[in-house]
Amino acid sequence: MNEQVHGAVDPRAGWTWRPPRLAFPHEQEQRFISACREARLSHFVRSGAVALLVYNLFLISDHLMAPDVFEEAVRVRLLYFTPFALGMLLIASLGRATMLALPPWVTEVAVVFSGLVAAYSLIYILGQSSSDVAPLYRAGLVPIIVYGNLVQRFRFREAVIFVLLLLVLYVVSSVWYVDPASPYRFLDLPIFLFVFSIGAYTLVVNYRIELEERRRFVRTERAAAARARLEASQRELDAQARRDPLTGVPNRRHLDAYLQQQWAVTGRAVSVLLIDVDHFKLFNDRHGHPAGDQCLRHVAQSLQRAVSPASGVVARWGGEEFMVVLPGVDVRRAQELAEALRAGVYGLALRHEAAPCQRVTISVGVASMVADGDAMALERLLAMADGALYQAKQGGRNTWRAAPGSVGQAG
Ligand code: GH3
Ligand code: MG
Ligand code: MG
Repeated sequence: MNEQVHGAVDPRAGWTWRPPRLAFPHEQEQRFISACREARLSHFVRSGAVALLVYNLFLISDHLMAPDVFEEAVRVRLLYFTPFALGMLLIASLGRATMLALPPWVTEVAVVFSGLVAAYSLIYILGQSSSDVAPLYRAGLVPIIVYGNLVQRFRFREAVIFVLLLLVLYVVSSVWYVDPASPYRFLDLPIFLFVFSIGAYTLVVNYRIELEERRRFVRTERAAAARARLEASQRELDAQARRDPLTGVPNRRHLDAYLQQQWAVTGRAVSVLLIDVDHFKLFNDRHGHPAGDQCLRHVAQSLQRAVSPASGVVARWGGEEFMVVLPGVDVRRAQELAEALRAGVYGLALRHEAAPCQRVTISVGVASMVADGDAMALERLLAMADGALYQAKQGGRNTWRAAPGSVGQAG
């Protein structure tokens, strides 16, 4: 990224050193321009307002250096340029949203254009004057150059064009306006050199300002990218910490947090289904521990298929036990789901040679309560589900039972 700006300060580059180019690769350039836009527009408006004031203060110099055209100067500065500049400033501040919707170069060109108009107005005023010292007044181009290159901080490329156009204006004015008989004709070249050198110096500073702005942008983008990477890996770590590595379903840590969260939404039913794989110890003994692991994965997937993420969460509670939490669901619907889960695992037809029915089955304990935010009540709900699971085991396994007193229970 951005080798033009950064690579160029490489000291090993030696004599092949070239000034860094003030351009990024296309997409980064677009990001740079849009990142600066708003601040740049505000800056243009604020500095433009101050510059307009300074521009009109030059009426004092007009009066001293070209008194014969003072009325014309007042007209040009106050009646022509000021309304024009105020109009631009008003459009930029009242129509800010529109300005920001236009291509960025429109604002840039408009500001350069206003600088050129200001310069032309100066040359025009002294072109009307027959004062001997009027030609010296072309040094007044200097504050206009400073305005463009350092105050408004035109983009370097526009700044170069701006200075060149002002120098052309100077030369043209020498040919057209300066009286060949003027006693100050000999100052034409020194004043030109004066304007030229200020133009060159301010361009150097302008270049450095833009370069620094671009380097700052690169640093900001890199920092933002590093931050985004860090946040992504933090999210990833967080997700991993909440997932059971064996089965891929959320782990107990996630479930605890989820339960607390749902339990805090008081006044609605919360159902929990405690699920236990039947005769699992025997399964391990007969088929081996790795097959037991694989079996737990199949069971977890089967449970997860039956519970949509929108309706609740399936988690590994520990060992060969799982839990489903269903917020906003009473015991009737929870029982339906318990049956669906049981039938789902039974339907997997996973061979379990040591079980009476020869396949892997689950038992489910269902309990429902109205959430009240009380931690003790939540403990009771879990104990109810545990009790119901015990009943299901007692009832012969491969079945479900609902805890007495669950909310939504008939009778
Ligand atoms: P019941 O039908 O009463 O639930 O009988 P059971 O054998 O399933 O119950 P018990 O609690 O005695 O045994 C649970 C077994 O689950 C014991 C343990 O080795 C096994 N187990 C727990 N976690 C894992 C695991 O991550 N992988 C494997 N393969 N086995 C596990
Ligand atoms: Mg168990
Ligand atoms: Mg078991």
